[in-house]
Amino acid sequence: MNRLLIAGLLLAAAAPLGAQGVVVGPGPDTPLPPIGPAVDPQVGALRDSALDGDTYAWDIVEGLTTEVGQRLGGTEAEARARVWAVAKLTALGFSNVHVEPFPMGVWTRGAESAEIIAPFPQKLVVAALGNSASTGPAGVTGQIVAFDSVDALRRAPDAVVQGKIVFVDHDMLPTQDGSGYGQFGAPRRQGPTAASLKGALAIVVRSIGTDHHRNPHAGVQTFTDGARPIPAGALTVPDAEQLARILKRGLPVTMHLTLVSQVRQGGQSGNVIAEVPGRDPSLAPVLVGGHLDSWDLGTGAIDDGAGVAITTAAAKRIMDSGRPLRTIRIVWFGAEEEGLFGGFDYLARHGKEALYAAAESDFGADHVWKLDSKLGPERKAEADMIGASVAPLGIVTGAFDKADGSDIEPLIGSGVPGVAFSQDGTRYFDIHHTPDDTLDKIDPIQLRQNVAAWTAMLAVLAGPIKPDPKRPPRR
Ligand SMILES: [Zn+2]
Repeated sequence: MNRLLIAGLLLAAAAPLGAQGVVVGPGPDTPLPPIGPAVDPQVGALRDSALDGDTYAWDIVEGLTTEVGQRLGGTEAEARARVWAVAKLTALGFSNVHVEPFPMGVWTRGAESAEIIAPFPQKLVVAALGNSASTGPAGVTGQIVAFDSVDALRRAPDAVVQGKIVFVDHDMLPTQDGSGYGQFGAPRRQGPTAASLKGALAIVVRSIGTDHHRNPHAGVQTFTDGARPIPAGALTVPDAEQLARILKRGLPVTMHLTLVSQVRQGGQSGNVIAEVPGRDPSLAPVLVGGHLDSWDLGTGAIDDGAGVAITTAAAKRIMDSGRPLRTIRIVWFGAEEEGLFGGFDYLARHGKEALYAAAESDFGADHVWKLDSKLGPERKAEADMIGASVAPLGIVTGAFDKADGSDIEPLIGSGVPGVAFSQDGTRYFDIHHTPDDTLDKIDPIQLRQNVAAWTAMLAVLAGPIKPDPKRPPRR
C-alpha cells in the first residue's frame, strides 16, 4: 500500500459521524481551496487533438516491432533498430538526428530446457536470465533445494545448498503502480548471487510476473560480491507452481537443466537522439524518451516500443503546431535492460549540460492515471499547470517531490528536474519480458491517452508554441 492511500484511509476513518451515521462535511467556516490555474486554450486543443486522432505513436511502435522485432542490447538486432530509428526520426522531420554509440559486452541466449528427472519425470518451461553462466549443451543435473525468498536462501547453511539447484519462489500480485516488482524481483536480481556464494550448482526462480501462462519472464541479473557466475533461469509461473507441488510430496526432486549462452566482448550499443529546435536556443532543453532496446523473447512492444512511440509522437505534435520556446530533445536510449547503459552514457557525455526537465515513458501503453513531478518548490505553479492540463484525461496530481524513469534515473540522481506519469500497471507484469510482449497487447485508445498527456506536458514545459515561418502548421 502506498503512503497516499494509507493517508486517505486514515482521513476517512477520522471523519466524524453524525447522529444518523452520516459523514459530516466541513463546517461553514472552512475556506475553499485556492483556485487552480486556468489551462491555456492552446495546450487544451493540442491535448484533445492527440486524444482524438493521434496516429504517430501507433505508426512508430507498429513499425519498430514489425520491421525490427526484438532488439537485445548490443546485438546486431539493436544495431538495425538504430538504423531504423534514424530513418524514422528523419522522415518525421526532426532535427539533429544522430546516434551516440558506446561499447558493451554482449550476452545472448542459446538452447534452454528444464526437465524433472525424479520423482515425476516431466518437462518444464524455462528461460535463462541475463548474464547467466552457460551449462554447455550437455546441461547439468542436480537435486532441487527450495526457498520462498532470497532471505531464506541467504539464511540457509552453505551445506544445504552446495552442489544443488536452488529454486526460489515468491508470490507477486498485480498492482496498479507495479510496486511488487521492487520486492518480488529480488529472486531474479539477488537470487543467483546468493546461490552462487553458497556453492550452488545452478538456480531457477519463479518468473517475476503476475500471469498464469507458460511464458518465462526474462530479465537481467548481475553477479556481485565476488560470486562466480552460475547458470540462472526463470521458470514460468505455472511451472514454478508445479515444481512447488512436486516438492510438497516430500521426495527428493532431481532436475536436468540446460541453459546455453554466449558472452562476447567488443559489442556496441548507442543512444539515438533527435530534436525539435526551440525558438530560443540559449534556454535549457526538455528531454523526453524511452528505451529502444528490448528483451529478446517478444518484440518489445510494451517494453519499450510504446515509450519511444508515445514521447516521440507528443514531440512531433508540438512540432506540427509551430515552434516551442525551448528545444525538445528526444532520446531513444540503448541497452537499458542490461543495466541502464544508455542512461549512464548520456549522463557521462551530457551531464554538464543544463536540462529544464527530463521525463521517460517505460511502463507499457495502458492509460496514465497519475502525475508526479520534481521541478523544485520555485516551479510549483508550473507543476500545477501540467496537472490542470492533464486532469481532463482522468490523471490525478500526486507528489511534487519525486520523479523517476529507468534511463533518466542517472540524470534525476544528478539533480535534473523531472516529471513522471504513472501508467496503469495492473496487467504490465503479465507481459513484461515475456514472448507475449507483442503489438497486439497495445490498446490504441489508451495509447492515444498517453500521447495526449505527454503532448499537454510538453506544451506547458517547452511552450508557448508560436507559428514557424518556415513550416506552416499541419492540419
Ligand atoms: Zn523497459
